Amino acid sequence: MADTINQGRRRFLKTSALGVAAVPFTGLMLQQQVARADLPRLSEDDDIARSLDYRHDATEVTHSRYQDGQICGNCALWAGGDAEWGVCRIIPGKAVARAGWCNAWVAG
Ligand code: SF4
Repeated sequence: MADTINQGRRRFLKTSALGVAAVPFTGLMLQQQVARADLPRLSEDDDIARSLDYRHDATEVTHSRYQDGQICGNCALWAGGDAEWGVCRIIPGKAVARAGWCNAWVAG
């Protein structure tokens, strides 16, 4: 009888641990799905892109704040995972290029 209870406890703890571990993983999967598939791409001509001096290709940036190696993909505000186009936390509803840059770049 005690063995059965202990087995039940072990199973419950194992299942609970898997459930807790799955929550952030599921959130990450959803975030990457949004980043890759659902958002239209930001145009460099959009008002918000112009106000941030955003460019799809950081290697073409001549802005005074730009430093070599800075791209959206290594900005602290990037939330696109490893996608080529992804979410930027300050640009709602549009995807930005991983290789892009804007004047709000923050070290990640
Ligand atoms: S804030 Fe960062 S991630 Fe967003 S567009 Fe600018 S450089 Fe890219």
